[in-house]
Amino acid sequence: MTAQSLPLNDTTQLPTIGFGTYLISDEDAYDAVLAALRAGYRHIDTAEAYGNETGVGRAIRDSGLPRGDIFVTTKLWPGNAAWGQPPKDRDATIASLEASLERLGLDYVDLYLIHAPYDPADRLAQWEGMVELKRRGLTRAIGVSNFTGAHIDALVAAGLPLPEADQIELHPWSQKPELVRYLRDRGITPIAYSSLVPLSTWRAAPGHDSAKTDGMQADSERADSPFRRMAAEHGVSEAQVLLRWATQQGYAVLPKSMNPERMAQNLDLFSFTLTEAELAEIATMDRGGGVAWPVGDPTLAD
Ligand code: NAP
Repeated sequence: MTAQSLPLNDTTQLPTIGFGTYLISDEDAYDAVLAALRAGYRHIDTAEAYGNETGVGRAIRDSGLPRGDIFVTTKLWPGNAAWGQPPKDRDATIASLEASLERLGLDYVDLYLIHAPYDPADRLAQWEGMVELKRRGLTRAIGVSNFTGAHIDALVAAGLPLPEADQIELHPWSQKPELVRYLRDRGITPIAYSSLVPLSTWRAAPGHDSAKTDGMQADSERADSPFRRMAAEHGVSEAQVLLRWATQQGYAVLPKSMNPERMAQNLDLFSFTLTEAELAEIATMDRGGGVAWPVGDPTLAD
């Protein structure tokens, strides 16, 4: 599949390649997002929890691009009782997007997501708040992140509408075939995050903790890495192979980089196509769960 945008609802298209901003400080976000927009990104992924909405919003406003040309996602931090954070209710959910919009300096976002499925009862109240936010036009589409099929089933059982997207960790080492099938069967768009986990450079900067094991790191560095071989065959980078794999599965991707050359590379995904044999080889590489959340893996929530 080579679609450069994916439908979220009748009036909203999600650009397939987005720019991720996790682990970019508010100070650095202005330059990074401005550089990304100048490189050609038209989809920016931020979150209340990233603490960088002010810098992200300033860059969007200073880019000179029409607001309607840029797709902006932000996320509700739902709270988490297990971490001593009071879970948000319906009204707090509404107030959270209003506060995000204030920081972003925008009138609306294109997609608002519940960041994680902590605290089952509150999750329903939060989803009611999301539905109301879409009704009020403060977001054009609503979705979830790190939700499993069981988490989504609970929303439906309460008589609430289906999410329009689920943003989840997806890469050759975490392929989640059952969850992907569940989403496809219900028309929920999968958005892949941490697509670059199999790279040796993934979150390599000091202080960028991850749950990637030493064994995984050794596999990333192998001279005979299959991704290195596929990259050489197509004359692209390993990062491009990983991102192309995701887009050929029909997922949107959100590569993050502070490096302008990598930003440009990660945007250049449609000039080559992985072969059926390469896709079949990657299909055998699934290792199960993800590594992006070093603590509090949200997919394990009740
Ligand atoms: P990612 O985009 O998969 O990988 C980023 C890492 O790879 C950085 O260390 C980056 O370093 C390096 N990198 C980027 N492009 C490269 C290239 N072409 N060649 C070599 N190395 C490259 O990781 P991520 O930030 O975990 O995920 C992407 C985005 O998804 C996030 O920024 C965030 O927006 C979203 N996300 C969402 C959740 C959630 O729970 N919803 C969780 C995680 C992430 P440099 O910066 O030095 O280039």
